[in-house]
Formats: sequence, C-alpha cells, structure tokens
Amino acid sequence: MIQRTPTAIEARPQDIDSHSWQQLLADSVTTPEALLQELGLSPQRWLSGAQAGHRLFPIRVPQPYLDRIERGNAADPLLRQILPLQDEAAERAGYVRDPLAEREATASPGLIRKYRSRALLMVTGQCAINCRYCFRRHFPYDEHRLSPSERTAVLNTLAAAPEVNEVILSGGDPLAVNDRLLARWAHDLATLPQLRRIRIHSRLPVVIPQRICDELLAWMTATRLQVVLVVHINHPNELDSQTRHALNRLKAAGVTLLNQSVALRGVNDDADTLAALSEALFESGVLPYYLHAFDPVAGAHHFDVSDDEARQLVRTLVERLPGFLVPKLVREQPGRAGKTPIDLHF
Ligand SMILES: *Cc1c(COP(=O)(O)O)cnc(C)c1O
Ligand code: SF4
Repeated sequence: MIQRTPTAIEARPQDIDSHSWQQLLADSVTTPEALLQELGLSPQRWLSGAQAGHRLFPIRVPQPYLDRIERGNAADPLLRQILPLQDEAAERAGYVRDPLAEREATASPGLIRKYRSRALLMVTGQCAINCRYCFRRHFPYDEHRLSPSERTAVLNTLAAAPEVNEVILSGGDPLAVNDRLLARWAHDLATLPQLRRIRIHSRLPVVIPQRICDELLAWMTATRLQVVLVVHINHPNELDSQTRHALNRLKAAGVTLLNQSVALRGVNDDADTLAALSEALFESGVLPYYLHAFDPVAGAHHFDVSDDEARQLVRTLVERLPGFLVPKLVREQPGRAGKTPIDLHF
C-alpha cells in the first residue's frame, strides 16, 4: 500500500489561512480513534475493524463531510463510505487489486490512454477523502508524480495525438492540488489546438465545498476550453447548503456539471434514495450522468450490488423520473474504449 503524505498538496505555507480549503484538508481526521470519537461510535465495537481497514487504506475525512454524518448512527450512508471495517481484510475470489487493469494503459508517466478521444491526466495521487469502496485503493500513485520533464513529455504526447479533444484531469482528486498548478495545466493544454474541453472528476465540491474558491473560478472562467466538472455524489445527504452554494458558483461560471455515482450496498441500493439523489442534484444544477456498477476491488466486497439489482433500481428510476434524471447504468471493462452500458432488459 502506498502511503499518501498529508502534505503532498503542493500548498506553500503562505497559501494557508485559517478558513482556507487547504487548512480544512490539512485538518482532516486521519486516525481510527479520532474518527470514532468524532462520530460518537463505541471503540469496543468499531476500533479493531477500523484499525484493520486503516492499515490497508488509510483513513482520511475532512470536517465538512463529517458534519453531515449523524452521530452515533452506524448505518449512516455517508459513514459507510468512510469508516474502515474488518470486512476489508477478508480475501474474496474475484476481487482484485486493479479491477480496471489501468496499469497496462499508462502511455507515459501521468498519462493514461484508454479512450480514443479523451486522455486521462493524473495530476496528483492525493485525495481529499479516502472512500472505502474506491477502485483505485491499491493504485501505485507514486508512479504518477510528475517531474518538469515528464510534464513536458505529457504535453508532447498530447500534441502528437490529434484524435484527443478532451483531457480529463484525474487522480487521486485533481482538485486536491492548488490552483496555481491547475491554472498552468489549463493554460498549457489550451495551446493544443485540437483540445476542446477540460474535464475534472472530483469529490472536493462535496467533501470541502470551500474548495470552490475565487482562484479556481478565475482560471476556469479564463480558459478558452469548455470546462466540465463531474462530481461524485452517492447519496442525497451529501448535498448540504454549502455544497449547493459551491455548485451554484460553478454553474454561474459556465461550468457544465454532471454527477457520477457508484451503486453501493448500504449507501444507495434502493430506488427511493437514488430518485431523491437525482432530484437533489437537479435542484443544485447538476445532471445525473452515470451510475456505475460496482468494480470488484479487493477489500470492498461488502459494498457489492449485483448487476441484476442495479438493473432493477434503474428500471424503477425510469418509471419514476424524467429521462434526464435517470443516470446511465454502466460498467468499466478493462481494455474497452469506453464504458459498457448495462442492458436494462425491459
Ligand atoms: C468513466 C470515467 C471517465 C471517462 O468517462 P466518459 O464520460 O465515458 O468519457 C473518466 N474518469 C473517471 C473517473 C471515470 O469513471
Ligand atoms: S475521491 Fe475518488 S479516487 Fe479518491 S478515494 Fe474517493 S473514490 Fe477513490
């Protein structure tokens, strides 16, 4: 397991003031004991499991996310996403470390080419939150820390790829790095004439809504590239008023907002929750985009929702919601040039 250093956010001390997102990120809860205390959960019942999971994939939860979890409620759907359990240590046949075989798609350090028209640029290995179900929980992020020459190599590789019209900033969580660095990427990428869009997949607008700051909006507004932000929200309780405010600011800056969820046992594996999520997203200016079938990553089998259950959930959404509020049910399969739709069998 690669340990991620909490200070790897390339923030300089002068960036940090007491209310900044950098400070909230640096103050994240990162130990089992502190997490249980914050959440009012009994150490007798939860500590040994939390420690076992924490050794496999360290705990990281910022305060604004913790604030949305109901104290003392072990079944809270947001808690499920961040509390390590003893189950993570169990081996299960078919659950593997790299379910999407991304190691094989690495084009040059920092750049993954698994889609024809889009390239994935790993700008950081850092995440603002460590989600227990993450399919990249075993990913060798350290191979993706870019030196200046690797950065140049990435830009040269893209310049020689006229079929790529969209760069997806990925990670880790790309918004875990500072805006100076992101603005520089946006600037350099905009010099490539074939590029039309820059896309960001992030949980930060939800996890630390303060991340949607003036500096971020400044470079997003300034670039000639269209900016698409795909937030990763799994449950309507993740959308509090601060998150809605952050999303409204992005929308006002002309950013296209989409959401991607993962179907997760005990979090959103019922149609009422998913319907409420779609409605809440739309109220915040976000369109549901994908509902991901669960990737069989080792250590997360307790989140598994079968394809048949996921189909049934989406069929129910189709009956209840307008088409634009029904996410596409997909699976990512190694070696495919795009996501594979899962047939609903109507
Ligand atoms: C699926 C996915 C992509 C690419 O998505 P498309 O919309 O199918 O191009 C990029 N990043 C992440 C994290 C994804 O899950
Ligand atoms: S934010 Fe995304 S990449 Fe990071 S741990 Fe969570 S699911 Fe994984």
